[in-house]
Amino acid sequence: MSDRENRQVNISIDLAAIRHNLKRVRESAPDKKIFSVIKADAYGHGATRILPALADTDAFAVANVAEGNALRHAKTQKPILVLQGFHSTEQLSDCLRAGLWPVIHHMEQLAMLPGKSRGPELSCWVKVDTGMGRLGFKSEQVQQVCNKLQAAGVKVKGLLTHFASADRQADISTDRQLKVFKTILLKNVEHSAANSAALLNRPDSHFDWVRPGIMLYGANPMEYRSGESQEQSFCLQPAMRVTAPVIAVRELKRGDRVGYGGTYECSGPTRVAIVGAGYGDGYPRTVAAGTCVVLGNRRCPIIGRVSMDSMSVDISALSVNPPIDYPVTLWGHVSLLVDEVADRVGTIPYELLCSIRGKRSWHDPATEVNVRKISDN
Ligand SMILES: *Cc1c(COP(=O)(O)O)cnc(C)c1O
Repeated sequence: MSDRENRQVNISIDLAAIRHNLKRVRESAPDKKIFSVIKADAYGHGATRILPALADTDAFAVANVAEGNALRHAKTQKPILVLQGFHSTEQLSDCLRAGLWPVIHHMEQLAMLPGKSRGPELSCWVKVDTGMGRLGFKSEQVQQVCNKLQAAGVKVKGLLTHFASADRQADISTDRQLKVFKTILLKNVEHSAANSAALLNRPDSHFDWVRPGIMLYGANPMEYRSGESQEQSFCLQPAMRVTAPVIAVRELKRGDRVGYGGTYECSGPTRVAIVGAGYGDGYPRTVAAGTCVVLGNRRCPIIGRVSMDSMSVDISALSVNPPIDYPVTLWGHVSLLVDEVADRVGTIPYELLCSIRGKRSWHDPATEVNVRKISDN
């Protein structure tokens, strides 16, 4: 029995939301081509299971060759960009066999190329480091790299770069990076720079291809600011809803303490629901006091420390006690977005979406089939 099957956390993925969010990408970047970024198992949403919702994308982007292989295995015909490229000759062979588009970002990759052969032609993208300081060639190396690739019989499909701070509204580093990128645009190849944040805020960064990730899953790509409902202005729909069951309801009295370290002391009679999810399921132990979950339509605060398999929730505000096994929403409810929980932990929605573990199910109202699959990874 796999780890996921044993878990009582339920992760429900709404394919209609992803389809809607992809439509928002199209509307925000009309006439551009789209790489739907589905690395890290589609940010926890199940890369191969959400493909029906991404039917309108032009291509996909994954982090590594193994992810690209898996996607080809799922019978995807569309181009697949491998953001980290290959880092061995075996991976290079996989790229050729599966027709993946590796990103070339360092010289060692050039040394692995076999030279002109009569085998299938490799198509690649070349990455430029315009200021992110992570992967990519310096702009002055780009022409030389492209020449070398062409000499080795490799087709350069395009140039791409990545922004360090596109999620910050008034950050001049994006301007700087764009300026550098614009100095090296090449004839006869395509260009790509925009992640979700740039896609929504910087039309001047769209070029030929946009590369949305987080917005496909309905989380806000911009830096979180409490009280602002930016999700609404971007009209994105959260695709992941996480629930866990009530496993006990307790009546505590004034002065009683809750959880490890006794960090919470009841100030009066308190009704507490113990909910069957904790850091062992990937729910962060570090959430700030007062972080909420949702029962029915009511937000209720977590009290005391989050344990490995459970957390305590103050449900004194509810008029009736929830029955045992009642599903409690940890995020993915209109009144409790993953963005808020992430902010409470001092992280970003990406990390929570990737870290949560549980039984996943996928729902697609468009086809009116409820697909339920217990994943084994
Ligand atoms: C992850 C990633 C993206 C997508 O970024 P989001 O912020 O999720 O939209 C785009 N490009 C590259 C190179 C990435 O690594």
